[in-house]
Amino acid sequence: MKVLVINCGSSSIKYQLYDMPAGNVLAKGLLERIGEPTSRLLHQARGAAHEIPCAAEDHVAGMETILATLASPDKGVMGAITEIGACGHRVVHGGEEFTGSVIIDGDVIASIERFADLAPLHNPPNLAGIRAARRELPDVPQIACFDTAFHATIPEVAYLYALPYALYEQYRIRRYGFHGTSHRYVARRAAALLGRDKYDINAITCHLGNGCSMAAVRGGRSADTSMGLTPLEGLVMGTRSGDFDPAILMYLAEKGMDTRRLNSLCNKESGLLGISGISNDMRNLAAQARNGERRAALAIDMFCYRVRKYIGAYTAVLGTLDAVVFTGGIGENSPLVREKSCGALAQIGIELDPEKNARPPAREADVAAAASRVRVLVIPTDEEAAIAQDTYALAQDKEQP
Ligand code: AMP
Repeated sequence: MKVLVINCGSSSIKYQLYDMPAGNVLAKGLLERIGEPTSRLLHQARGAAHEIPCAAEDHVAGMETILATLASPDKGVMGAITEIGACGHRVVHGGEEFTGSVIIDGDVIASIERFADLAPLHNPPNLAGIRAARRELPDVPQIACFDTAFHATIPEVAYLYALPYALYEQYRIRRYGFHGTSHRYVARRAAALLGRDKYDINAITCHLGNGCSMAAVRGGRSADTSMGLTPLEGLVMGTRSGDFDPAILMYLAEKGMDTRRLNSLCNKESGLLGISGISNDMRNLAAQARNGERRAALAIDMFCYRVRKYIGAYTAVLGTLDAVVFTGGIGENSPLVREKSCGALAQIGIELDPEKNARPPAREADVAAAASRVRVLVIPTDEEAAIAQDTYALAQDKEQP
């Protein structure tokens, strides 16, 4: 069965076409600048990359272009779009309602719409993609995979904020967590690498990309995570602050900043960018730090210090720990960040092998010292593959893997 995986942003559609159950990627691409006259499709298939200018005025037009390209004689990989057997969509916020992936119907769409209140930047474009795909592929099962779903197992003691309980009752203000598809994927891969059942592992998973979050995984299920009601809480990120004293917001409000300004300040002007004043990009900052830029070095140190703090906290949450897993652009590629985040933690059983950390011996690698009680794993995340697996399973009336 061919499974199309869709990830829609406000002005973009990312897609991958999988041959399931083998899991081979037949084609992938990105349609960007939707709504602008200069929109273009970057499409890869059969070992060739194509840049196709188009004028996609909305997500429906974008989806039409993508499907036509997938079935085109020269750049395509199938005779007709009717070969697509199921379509999987990344959806950021599933509220408390969705604890796993689901087949999309009118009720699911209404719920995703309702949760747009909690994820105004993400759920509306995710819905636009769902609507476009349902229109273009009306007879194909559409599946929603929620970023929040893996964290549905977090206990009340960890998901509630110590605010008046009425706020939870009235507005459902609580920790939801995000990057769930990634945390689940790498936790399962970690269990497989250690030769264990997927529900027989305690791990701390660190998704460190432009957005960053960590999860405490107990028995293969999320027990806590660093992001909260929104993806702002927790770690230092590219442009997001992560944790800080909320009284700072009230202080700044008294100084005259309105909610729009504060929102931009915390989400777009903080984190690595805010501290360094140079860049939100770790590679760039590492180069600047090597050149002696003090604030670039400080931003990296603060980033790693926060990861280290959460490793300590989640070790205490879990009690016993089998593995720390690094993933995401930074987690997978930065030995410096891994070393600063979990070097010299032999006290709690975590010992890196400096050579292996500097040059992981394989794509998925154990970079801990032989004597380390806790394994330290580098595992490239693959959220699209996880969505494809869920989609394939649900389209066949099976439980998600
Ligand atoms: P992602 O959002 O997962 O694509 O991750 C983006 C982040 O990964 C950016 O901060 C990049 O600078 C960082 N990154 C990618 N490659 C490297 C690398 N080789 N070393 C350090 N950071 C990297």
